[in-house]
Amino acid sequence: MATAVTEAQATSAPIKQTKILIGNRWVDSVSGKTFDTINPATGEVLAKVAEAEAADVDLAVKAARKAFHAKAPWRRMSASERGKLLNRLADLIEQNADELATLESLDNGKPRHVARAADLPLVIACYRYYAGWADKIQGKTIPVSGEYFCYTRHEAVGVVGQIIPWNFPLLMQAWKLAPALACGNTVVLKVAEQTPLSALRVGELILEAGFPEGVVNILPGYGPTAGAAIANHMDVDKVAFTGSTEVGHLIMKAAAETNLKRVTLELGGKSPNIVFADADMDQAIEGSHFALFFNQGQCCCAGSRLFVEEKIYDEFVERSTERAKRRTVGNPLDTKTEQGPQVDNDQFKKVLGYVESGKKEGAKLMCGGERVGERGYFVAPTVFADVKDEMQIAQEEIFGPVMSILKFKDMDDLVERANKTIYGLAAAVWTRDITKALNIANNVRAGTVWVNCFDVFDAGAPFGGFKQSGIGRELGEYGLQQYSEIKTVTVKL
Ligand code: ADP
Repeated sequence: MATAVTEAQATSAPIKQTKILIGNRWVDSVSGKTFDTINPATGEVLAKVAEAEAADVDLAVKAARKAFHAKAPWRRMSASERGKLLNRLADLIEQNADELATLESLDNGKPRHVARAADLPLVIACYRYYAGWADKIQGKTIPVSGEYFCYTRHEAVGVVGQIIPWNFPLLMQAWKLAPALACGNTVVLKVAEQTPLSALRVGELILEAGFPEGVVNILPGYGPTAGAAIANHMDVDKVAFTGSTEVGHLIMKAAAETNLKRVTLELGGKSPNIVFADADMDQAIEGSHFALFFNQGQCCCAGSRLFVEEKIYDEFVERSTERAKRRTVGNPLDTKTEQGPQVDNDQFKKVLGYVESGKKEGAKLMCGGERVGERGYFVAPTVFADVKDEMQIAQEEIFGPVMSILKFKDMDDLVERANKTIYGLAAAVWTRDITKALNIANNVRAGTVWVNCFDVFDAGAPFGGFKQSGIGRELGEYGLQQYSEIKTVTVKL
């Protein structure tokens, strides 16, 4: 249950950590530089945070490499002991969940009660899930020809660089750290410059849990400096990145041009959300509202191309508009708030730019489209009807509270239209007809398909993209493959 927090209480939540974590020590950046992290609800500076750059990444990689040495404590530790550490971290996050939810809300702008009720439980479950895997990562014995004994070992990849975005800071940290650590890797994690605070607090909990020196290193800093230094580093064995498709290309290029480090990418999306006329209307309207507006529309898998069958189109548009108008926008610390501000001024401006583009290209603005209030980066929940496939708002990732509703006649050209995108992260379908549901589920080219639901996540269920939405899968047993190397050992008998 979310607890009510007054603004005064929450903003006085102590910001305990603003430095860089390298080799289990909190340090300033080599350059001594800091950057401001902003409260997007007010535009005010929350804290000055140490700014990591290439020199700091280098130190962090050295610490992580040392921690990965065959004789280092982390490598000598049993697999079950690694699991215990991850469980201890999950317990500490649970004990400090209220404080972490407040930090997340202040830094990111998401409603505090949503962070507490949605993000934190998923974070804790993710660490626990991979804690359970730590001592169950095992190879096979292979019946090869001849007098040999052949087996495989699933070994850690080594020093893993991880770069995460700002939309779910704690959750993206968990998705990255938990499987990497369960497999025995050491980590250099760069957090997003917009939202460093909660990840640094988790860094303190990592030390409290007792992870050995250098196993987890956490660096706040900017993408083109600290992020690029990780992607280009010759002693990083793998890079895992979540963010824009544009930067995904840069990461892969950097890996190709340096040491062919392994690359996994979780990138953008423009996910089709398909509503058939036979769907439960109430559920489909509320579900589609959630699919787009959740987290201020800042989800890589947002249902941002909403295809509605012709027969119910007008009613659906009307009722979705009513629902969007009722969405409560305001103070993220108020438990009645459904929608907080966009994460920063850049995103705010970008979203409003897409609204202009929608209007210019002839989509019908049903509601919203403007700023809310005079300070902070709030955007009114926006609905566009009569959106056409080729419009910019139907092609590009908006990453904001802007719903685009398109019309379709029947199944015939629907799948083709749904797939006409460079992305393939997620899709959803709302129908009571199992044949239609499975037709969509089988033929839409996306890493996740939700049927009569949206944004259902579980640490056990893999997530990732087809096409330019990414490479590899996170979560579940599949997520372990991205953090292990397979070694074949053959013994002459
Ligand atoms: P968004 O547009 O959602 O902010 P980005 O892809 O720009 O997405 O950012 C996601 C993460 O990638 C952030 O941690 C950011 O600092 C980092 N990043 C941005 N540019 C680069 C880059 N050139 N190299 C490595 N990391 C980067």
